[in-house]
Amino acid sequence: MAEVPPEQLDAQFRTQPHAFNQTPPKSKESQDGDSKAPLPKGVVLDKDGKPCRTCTSIASWRALTKQQSQTSPSSTATSSTSTTISTPATTSQSTPQPTEIPSDCPPDVEQLGRSTWTLLHTMAATYPEKASAQHQEDMQGFLKFFSKLYPCWVCADDFKTWMAHPSGRNQPKLGGRKEFGWWMCEAHNEVNRKLGKKEFDCRLWEERWRTGWKDGRCD
Ligand SMILES: Cc1cc2nc3c(=O)[nH]c(=O)nc-3n(C[C@H](O)[C@H](O)[C@H](O)COP(=O)(O)OP(=O)(O)OC[C@H]3O[C@@H](n4cnc5c(N)ncnc54)[C@H](O)[C@@H]3O)c2cc1C
Repeated sequence: MAEVPPEQLDAQFRTQPHAFNQTPPKSKESQDGDSKAPLPKGVVLDKDGKPCRTCTSIASWRALTKQQSQTSPSSTATSSTSTTISTPATTSQSTPQPTEIPSDCPPDVEQLGRSTWTLLHTMAATYPEKASAQHQEDMQGFLKFFSKLYPCWVCADDFKTWMAHPSGRNQPKLGGRKEFGWWMCEAHNEVNRKLGKKEFDCRLWEERWRTGWKDGRCD
């Protein structure tokens, strides 16, 4: 697959509107300028107006690079120098499908999300049954910085906004493992709802993330 360097993409996409799950444009830079070909659906721009790889699915990213390679005069040269994808030994040797991402490539929004939820739920699963004041403070700090620094900035913004609901109802519940695990499950369900995914039954979060399923398949 032809890969177009971000600096080439930048010239065209600085002027494109931000597009991510119908989230309205947030970057001024991405809104002004003349109109060019519309971005493929699902491509998200970073705050500096460049396409944000960690905010975009691999399918949309590939649509973007394909579009760019078709419209850029220098695309042939670019393609010929950067089409090599090292295929992991465990996967098929054929050209990857749009929804597959080789394991040694930068993560898209989905792979990053799955890995991050694994970390977050596992942090809840290993959280003390009853957390000390210090532990609660540490976790509060972690979540505060996490919601600022998560590499998909639109995800981070939404997560931060959800946590800061004016009613206070979404504030992290940090007293102990059960309430923290449940809170994390609800946070994840909020994203699931936003993305149109099935909600997870939070009564099962411990089996999924701590003890393993009762049928023993994880043992
Ligand atoms: C903080 C955060 C915000 C995100 N925001 C966005 C966003 O705005 N837009 C976007 O496109 N993507 C976002 N993502 C990524 C998104 O949530 C998914 O990770 C991604 O779409 C891949 O989804 P998936 O279906 O493979 O499973 P995931 O949603 O990643 O879930 C992984 C596994 O967790 C388990 N699980 C599912 N729901 C729950 C739950 N409620 N509680 C406990 N376990 C559960 C299931 O076993 C599932 O297979 C975000 C991720 C994070 C960490």
